Amino acid sequence: MGRDLSELASYMLPLAQDLLRAATDAGLDPVVEDTGRDEAEQQVKIATGVSWTTRSKHLPQPPEMKSEAIDVVPRACIALKYWGWNGTIENSHPHWGKLIEIGEGLGLHCGVHFPKPDPGHFQYIHP
Ligand SMILES: [Zn+2]
Repeated sequence: MGRDLSELASYMLPLAQDLLRAATDAGLDPVVEDTGRDEAEQQVKIATGVSWTTRSKHLPQPPEMKSEAIDVVPRACIALKYWGWNGTIENSHPHWGKLIEIGEGLGLHCGVHFPKPDPGHFQYIHP
């Protein structure tokens, strides 16, 4: 389990590829931080305070038992404190707003809307 696109469900994979392609075209140089997780990895993430849910879409999802979520970070943000995310799109590094615009334009749900915003998280919305 890690950051390989092969860990994504077949219906999520093309959307993730479109997201990465569009983000690249926009000059964001996207870095994939996470795709699939197993239960043990999720428990570690909860314990270390980087995830807050036991129902993460990174966990195996039926029917394929693969991930329906990807975490992406604009490369310019990697070296910044809190990855350049300061709580809202408006007060954060501009690449976040652009990334969110691209992901939502593809019909993905962005973690920016979670109770604890996770702006690089994009997950599949079931029709
Ligand atoms: Zn995520």
